[in-house]
Amino acid sequence: MQQEHGWVPPGIDLSRPSAARVYDYYLGGSHNFGVDRELARVAIEDWPELPMIMQANRAFLRRAVKFCVQAGIRQFLDIGSGIPTVGNVHEVAQELDPDCRVVYVDIDPVAVAHSRIMLAGNDFSEIVQADLRQPERVLDAPQTKALLDLSQPVAVLMVAVLHFVPDEADPAALVRHYLDAVAPGSFLVLSHACLEGVGEQAEFHQKLYRRAGSALTMRPVDQVAGLFGPARLVEPGLVRLPLWRPDPAAPYEGDPAVFAGFAAVGQKV
Ligand code: SAM
Repeated sequence: MQQEHGWVPPGIDLSRPSAARVYDYYLGGSHNFGVDRELARVAIEDWPELPMIMQANRAFLRRAVKFCVQAGIRQFLDIGSGIPTVGNVHEVAQELDPDCRVVYVDIDPVAVAHSRIMLAGNDFSEIVQADLRQPERVLDAPQTKALLDLSQPVAVLMVAVLHFVPDEADPAALVRHYLDAVAPGSFLVLSHACLEGVGEQAEFHQKLYRRAGSALTMRPVDQVAGLFGPARLVEPGLVRLPLWRPDPAAPYEGDPAVFAGFAAVGQKV
């Protein structure tokens, strides 16, 4: 397998799907295996809009990064960054200002290996392999210390990742830990799979991911709003993915209720 794919790091379990590689498949990427595609196939059979929802999530991330740069942010901490795809944070941010610095963080070895390949030669972007449930491992990583000045505002991205953090790990406290570590004026960019309007599909999908070893916890919107803690939400608040500051050149014209994901950007005051 390693001869076949230079991006496959040694020692990974190819018999279990990974959330990062399943997401890559939904986005139309090629860094996934048969076991990931099989999970995605079963999921899409039950919920055909899934790839469209994931693509709307990725489009939200790109709009939010642009928003942050336009608001003056030049440093990004992208936690649960995923397998690189089109329009990564450093690409969007550095296109607007080449001095933007980006630290990516992911727990998944394939996401980390492929990020390393993509970032080779980019002096202002790095990847850290860490579990976000250990914030000190993220914040004290040499790459974070070298690239980010936490005394200045940062955008902390937690996009489509906190639904992989179970209630027992207290996602609100984890977000709070990261927000406490950054300067006032910093932004929190967050999206999350929600239960509103999803019905039986929610249970089916949570079971599917659980069986695959990546517990998925879809949450009610109110609970997701609580994850922002003291951060003040910028307009339009916490809304379905395509409704967050849509690109005026490409507004979403369908029924937003089909998007199970909600997104918002908050600012630490
Ligand atoms: N943030 C990207 C986006 O929205 O396009 C990728 C989202 S992808 C659905 C979720 C990512 O979070 C995966 O790459 C997965 O490996 C990562 N992840 C899940 N749990 C994590 C944890 N505890 N610590 C760090 N990364 C995690």
